[in-house]
Amino acid sequence: MVIAKKIRKRFGDTEVLHGLDLTVQAGEVVCLIGPSGSGKSTLLRCINHLERPNGGTVTVNGELVGVVRKKSGLTPMRPAQLSKQRTDIGMVFQSFNLFAHKTALENVALAPRLARRESREEAVRRAEKLLAQVGLAAFHNSYPAEMSGGQQQRVAIARALAMLPKVMLFDEPTSALDPELVGEVLDVIRTLARHGMTMIIATHELSFARDVADRVVFMDAGQIVESGPAREVLAQPREERTRAFLSRIL
Ligand code: ATP
Ligand code: MG
Repeated sequence: MVIAKKIRKRFGDTEVLHGLDLTVQAGEVVCLIGPSGSGKSTLLRCINHLERPNGGTVTVNGELVGVVRKKSGLTPMRPAQLSKQRTDIGMVFQSFNLFAHKTALENVALAPRLARRESREEAVRRAEKLLAQVGLAAFHNSYPAEMSGGQQQRVAIARALAMLPKVMLFDEPTSALDPELVGEVLDVIRTLARHGMTMIIATHELSFARDVADRVVFMDAGQIVESGPAREVLAQPREERTRAFLSRIL
């Protein structure tokens, strides 16, 4: 379970997250929606401390992320400790960020070998299984440049799963894809949801959010405006700002 409390983030003098609270239960799928610039990516990046929040705390399964509690208060974690902790929090970006000079199999097997100290055999065996799960059993030896965007994104998902994360964060995983490739990536995410993976997904795909999310969170201008079951927030929003956003994009 993920609990983000009173998250604040400033860039220079501008505060872009104004004290957000978000709790995601184990096995829950939450979709973040909202206008460009509303802070969806920043919130995801604060959850795994790719950005250090200026205020507030994040816990994953009860463990504080990025900080340690000392007598003097909360102090930043050492980078090595943070990297280790981040393996619990899988992240998939809009741009797939694969290693260009490594095959699909190597891309998936590398991090478990380095961060989890798995043996080569163990890491490769699991990478093969994960690639099969995302429908890429035939692509072990392909390099990213030889794969479609949808295939590369599925490798990126398999790579994040290889770390056995407790939660997966997705930042617009389909928005860099040609429309005909969106479905295959959403199918993989849908399957993860069915298997009980805890996920927070920033997305512009409202039909996908309606389909997969247990809860939809609408953000605007660095605040959570409204949160509730997908059907309610997307079909019968309570807040005027949510209605205005939905009417602009539907
Ligand atoms: P989009 O839907 O376009 O991806 P978003 O909801 O993900 O938008 P963010 O990328 O989180 O929005 O941006 C929130 C605000 O923070 C924006 O005003 C943005 O300009 C600002 N911002 C984000 N990252 C930085 C940064 N590294 N430096 C300065 N400002 C930033
Ligand atoms: Mg974004």
